[in-house]
Amino acid sequence: MKSFGDFPLSEEILNSLDKIGFVKPTPIQVAAIPLLLKGQDVIARAETGSGKTAAFAIPLVEHLGKNKKAKALVLAPTRELAQQIEGFFNQLLPQEGPHTVVGIYGGVDIRKQFKKLQRPYSIIVATPGRLIDHLRRNTLQVSKCQFVVIDEGDRMLDMGFGPQLKEIQKGLPKTRLTSFFTATWEKSVTRLAQSYLRQPKTVYLTKPSSTVSTITQSVLSVNKEDKEDILMDELNRRQGSILVFVKTKHETHNLFKHLKEFGFQVEEIHGDCTQGQRNKAMAQFKSEQVKILCATDVAARGLDIQSVQHVINFDLPVNSEDYLHRIGRTGRNGAKGESVTFVTREEYGKWNRIANKFKLEMLGASEGKK
Ligand code: AMP
Repeated sequence: MKSFGDFPLSEEILNSLDKIGFVKPTPIQVAAIPLLLKGQDVIARAETGSGKTAAFAIPLVEHLGKNKKAKALVLAPTRELAQQIEGFFNQLLPQEGPHTVVGIYGGVDIRKQFKKLQRPYSIIVATPGRLIDHLRRNTLQVSKCQFVVIDEGDRMLDMGFGPQLKEIQKGLPKTRLTSFFTATWEKSVTRLAQSYLRQPKTVYLTKPSSTVSTITQSVLSVNKEDKEDILMDELNRRQGSILVFVKTKHETHNLFKHLKEFGFQVEEIHGDCTQGQRNKAMAQFKSEQVKILCATDVAARGLDIQSVQHVINFDLPVNSEDYLHRIGRTGRNGAKGESVTFVTREEYGKWNRIANKFKLEMLGASEGKK
């Protein structure tokens, strides 16, 4: 597959893709787009940065183009991801066409959303919690959504959205085209996918828990009390944007303040930030006005930032899947990236379990004991 022109897509979409600058489809797009165009339910195991948004958005817009009255629902776990998806649809939808997109997520005044919902819309991009708010208030219906996408299904379950997804499902039409995207594949994810999809075709593009090959990953053994100093050395010697992962909201904020005091241009993003603060942090980081963003795992999930060259794991991730998601913020779409993980002696065992899984450098267990 050399170009998007090889898919049976309308002129309008090909023009939009041209404007966006997408020339060649990524592997997940090559696998999923033809199936979805044919009306086949799809489960796609796609790693972060694989181009999964376009993989579901392109066929969805193509289907809508054939039916002026059709509606679609895209569910995403976080508001940041929902905003990114909404933005992509806005780029993709033909400007003069009848279809429009509406974003329904928390952190935005619900009354403003009531207003938005009074205008016609055909694609709803929503987080489950806020969507249910609207469904219960009867300010929005999903019964006419013939096209449904569940993005980051595994993360939805991790974040406790299982019950909400069940409730939403009850309101959807029985006959519909559904696609389900997930980075990991556990029993609970399979069950959720099976309940939503009909005779789906599965496309696997990643080996289970593999890491992205364009990323150079390293590990630093550090003393707990030296972590801030070592971080500042790392920040000083790196060119380009840097995402720093911290364990908790509180510690993220403290590290942000500490770096600011030392004159670094830095922003923070975590669950205690208001939507306004998050948007500002993201805008400044994306436009490279600030080079450093301190973040927790949940806040960083699904962020699409083109230009992250470095990921620094200031604190170890809780598990290997989070490790994969963190480093997946860099090296996107084949770009080169670097990651470094700080590990204290007490954490050697925990690190080695991650390192073993991804064939990374192990740290000497015997040195671990003081
Ligand atoms: P996603 O996995 O959807 O978050 O996409 C990761 C990044 O790849 C985004 O910045 C997209 O804009 C970009 N992208 C997706 N598909 C393509 C493509 N076919 N050509 C170039 N860039 C792409």
